[in-house]
Amino acid sequence: MEMSRAFKIAVLPGDGIGPEVTEAALIVLDALQDSMKGLELRLEKAEAGYDCIRKYGTNLPPETLDVIKGSDACLKGPMTTPEEPGSPISVAVTLRKYFDLYANIRPCKSLPRVPCLKPNIDLIIVRENTEGLYSGKEFEVSPGVGVALRIITKRASERIARVAFELAMKRKRKVSFVHKANILKLTDGIFKEGVLKVAKEYPGVELEELHVDAMAMQLIKRPESFDVIVTTNMFGDILSDEAAQTVGGLGLTAGANIGDRFGMFEPVHGSAPKYAGQNKVNPMAMIFAAKMMLEYLGLKEAAERVEKAVLGVLEEGKYLTYDLGGSSKTMEVARAIAEKIKAQGERMKMESNLRNRFFA
Ligand code: NAD
Repeated sequence: MEMSRAFKIAVLPGDGIGPEVTEAALIVLDALQDSMKGLELRLEKAEAGYDCIRKYGTNLPPETLDVIKGSDACLKGPMTTPEEPGSPISVAVTLRKYFDLYANIRPCKSLPRVPCLKPNIDLIIVRENTEGLYSGKEFEVSPGVGVALRIITKRASERIARVAFELAMKRKRKVSFVHKANILKLTDGIFKEGVLKVAKEYPGVELEELHVDAMAMQLIKRPESFDVIVTTNMFGDILSDEAAQTVGGLGLTAGANIGDRFGMFEPVHGSAPKYAGQNKVNPMAMIFAAKMMLEYLGLKEAAERVEKAVLGVLEEGKYLTYDLGGSSKTMEVARAIAEKIKAQGERMKMESNLRNRFFA
C-alpha cells in the first residue's frame, strides 16, 4: 500500500460558489478515506477570501497562512477579488508568490459523454505563475495614465520551460510555446530565449512556436494536436479558460500550483457569484483539483479512484449539473461520485477476499 503516514491538508473554502464546491470535494474525500484502509487526510479548514476583508481587513488572515504553512498541501476554493484600485490582491496570486508556486499546471482532456470540440483532446497548459503582468505592480503616472509592469526573467522562463519539457517527456513529447515576441520584443524575447535554451536539453521533444493570438485560434481549430503548452502568466490564464471550454467548460477543469516545496490545488474557475448558494454549479472541477492534490502527495491509487468515480458518473449521465445539460444539484453529483468510490472499495475488498481464499 502506498499510504504510510497522515497528510495534513489546509482547506480554504473561499467565497461565492467556493464553499459549495469545497463541501462537495470533502464528501468525496471522506468516502475515499472510508473505503481505503490506511489513507489518512487531516483536513483543516481556514478562512480566506472576500468576506475576510470586511471581517479582518485582509483576504488572507495570518492564522490562515499559518495553517497552510503547517500543511502538506492546500486545497483552495475560488475567491472573489475586488477590482477597485488599492483593494487587496487576489489570494491565489499572493499564495503563488509566497510559496513560490511557479508552475500552474492545467490539464484539459475530452471526457466521456461530455460535448467537446474533438473527442481526443488531451493537453496541458503550463503557465508561469509568479511574474508577468500578474506581478501586480501598477502606477498612475499622471491623472488618466496608468502603467502596469510586465516582469519577465530568464530564471523564471527557464524553470517553467523545464517543467513543460519534463511533463512532455512523460506524455506525447511535444511542447508548444506561446508568446507575443513580435510586439513584446524584449520581455517575450527573454521568455522565448529561455524556452529555446531548455529545449536543447530535450532533443526528443517536438517543439512548436506560436504567437498568442494565433494560438487562441489554433486551440479551437486543432485542440487535439496539442500536448504541453507553455506560456507566460496572463496568456496562460486566458488560454486555460479557452482550453477548458474545448472539453466542456469551466465546471470540469482544475489546476495545480506547484513549487519546489509546496503545492496548492484549485479549480480553474472563479467564484461565479451569481450562482452562489444555489447548490447548482458543477463540483467536478474542484473534485479534479482534489485528485491532482492526491497525485502530488504520491497517493496514486487514491487519485485514480477519484478519477474513475467521476468518469463513471459522467458515463452514466444520470447525475449531471446544468452546464452539462442536466438538472442535478451540486451535492447530488458529489454524493453520486462518493457512492461510486464506496462501490469500488467494496468490489476491491471482495476481490481481495476471493484471492486470499483461493491463493492463500
Ligand atoms: P468565474 O470562473 O467565476 O465564472 C465565469 C462563468 O463560468 C460563470 O458565470 C459560470 O457560467 C461558469 N462557471 C464557473 N464555475 C462553474 C462551475 N463550477 N460549474 C458550472 N459553471 C461554472 O469567472 P468570473 O465571473 O470572471 O470571476 C468571478 C470572480 O472569481 C472574480 O472576483 C474573480 O476575480 C474570481 N476568480 C477567482 C479565481 C481563484 O480564486 N483562483 C479564479 C478566477 C476568477
